[in-house]
Amino acid sequence: MIQAVRGTRDIYGREMVLWSEIEQVFQRVCTRFCYTEFRTPILEKTELFKRGVGEATDIVGKEMYTFEDRGGESITLRPEMTAPIVRAAIEHNLLHHSPTTRLWYNASLFRYERPQAGRYRQFQQLGAELLGSAHPESDVEVIALAYQTLIECGVRDCVLEINTLGNTASRLAYKSTLVEYLEKHRETLSEDSQRRILTNPLRVLDSKSTQDQMVIADAPKLAEMLDQDSKEHFEAVQFLLNSAGIPFVVNNRLVRGLDYYTHTVFEFTTSSLGTQNALGGGGRYDPLFAMIGGSATPAVGFSLGADRIALLLEKERGGFPETPVPDVYIVASHDNARLPAQVIALRLRTNGFSVLVDLQRRSAKGQSKEAQNSKSKAVVTLSETDIANGTCSVRKVDKPEEHAVQQSTLENFLRA
Ligand code: AMP
Repeated sequence: MIQAVRGTRDIYGREMVLWSEIEQVFQRVCTRFCYTEFRTPILEKTELFKRGVGEATDIVGKEMYTFEDRGGESITLRPEMTAPIVRAAIEHNLLHHSPTTRLWYNASLFRYERPQAGRYRQFQQLGAELLGSAHPESDVEVIALAYQTLIECGVRDCVLEINTLGNTASRLAYKSTLVEYLEKHRETLSEDSQRRILTNPLRVLDSKSTQDQMVIADAPKLAEMLDQDSKEHFEAVQFLLNSAGIPFVVNNRLVRGLDYYTHTVFEFTTSSLGTQNALGGGGRYDPLFAMIGGSATPAVGFSLGADRIALLLEKERGGFPETPVPDVYIVASHDNARLPAQVIALRLRTNGFSVLVDLQRRSAKGQSKEAQNSKSKAVVTLSETDIANGTCSVRKVDKPEEHAVQQSTLENFLRA
């Protein structure tokens, strides 16, 4: 038997009903915020992620699905969506037409990680990017969009954590102070963190290793080294979040690992999913356009992990939603009624009803049983005499009695 590739999975049945619900909520909220959908190819040139995500990151260093195509070009299955969106924005000169560009996506991503509950090699992100505004109100707009999505999905156990990395000048100044401090404590640090001192020092602050905790606790704080501009930006973000009634906590350790973040970074976490506790996150990435070859353009965005939202909702609700039931099941109680039953099914579907009809040429009894199993809201039965008279009999689930109805007025009867 051929099975799905490790770390990938099939989504179907009641789990898929939950997924559709989450995706529809997201789409609805995005529409209210006036974001438009954007789709990019699954394949990108490897160079895009090397430049746009950074060679020092785990994603580029060890998690990308990269291969040479038949033409000898290095291609990568996208491991994240921000770099592709920025690539597309530059390629199509989007900002020229619309100085503030609001985009959303629902995309499959690929990372060669060690699979476990809530962590897959193919997973789905729902995200948004707001391109062209440097102001703190745009940080809050995208946070509010993500927050509103989680609220309307019905997520309960979720905390918004925010932090600031300051502007580029503040962050660079901090980075060198931090590297100096970490070098002094190199011997105490875990192997991973020792390696990161040079490649990605901010990530050390994020370390889960117990060995690193003492060093991290006494590390110099970025918050204490922010310049005036960075402080004001972060204060404005907090003021707006408070005014909008969006609850948050400030977590000075939150850095989000990627080189391109400046100012606000944020993450939505839950305590219900064990170690895979991040539902989503994002931040401001003002340097990214220039890193990919565009002109300097401020931007901010987020992505939510659909797989984890689904896991969390399943847990919180104690199961998946029921599959939707059909409006109508049509029973052909005689062989001569089988084809007319199909014709009526097609007509009702054209007129907006969801309709099930037998395709196994079952007996009348078999069809009634299937009708019952389908939990359809109404059962329409066509007998041989009905065919002759242009009638049918209809029973609605919530009513015990059966009605003789003219086929030509069936829609009206069903709607009543
Ligand atoms: P990131 O792009 O790493 O910031 O991830 C944003 C969100 O995507 C995370 O908070 C997760 O909810 C989700 N996510 C990231 N990696 C995975 C994965 N391997 N499997 C499932 N969800 C993931």
